[in-house]
Amino acid sequence: MKVHLKQIPSEGKHIEGESENDFLHLDTAEPIKPVGSVRYALDVGLSDGGLFATGSVGVEFELACVKCLEPFTYPIRIEDFACQVELTGSEMVDLTPLVREDILLALPAHPHCDWSGEKTCRHALRQRRPEFEESSEHSEVWGALDQLKIKKTN
Ligand SMILES: [Zn+2]
Repeated sequence: MKVHLKQIPSEGKHIEGESENDFLHLDTAEPIKPVGSVRYALDVGLSDGGLFATGSVGVEFELACVKCLEPFTYPIRIEDFACQVELTGSEMVDLTPLVREDILLALPAHPHCDWSGEKTCRHALRQRRPEFEESSEHSEVWGALDQLKIKKTN
């Protein structure tokens, strides 16, 4: 996501493409992993000694659910990406660190595998149907009592 200043005409330029996700790799113990390439579509332009870029950025992540710990895919799509970079004399401006920052900010702090509603989290499933567990526990208790009764009568 590097932009050559000399290649930007006065009316601005549209840059679009895919980038390796290497730059997103996180130095963390959290199970967060980018999957596939980072897609971007940006309009860049120059104004007042700065470079601005607006557009969309998207990438998929593999995250682990905080409730059931199962890995799931979470797409990040930033439709309103916007940044302004002050020009420092270099002919090349790298937007990568700014894109990285926005993508990391868009990651959920407490990822849930049922975010899209397409899947029901196993943890939530267990909480929603307590009668199942209760009834099975119940029968175990009654089973134990039955055993006691049998022992008594013997
Ligand atoms: Zn879950």
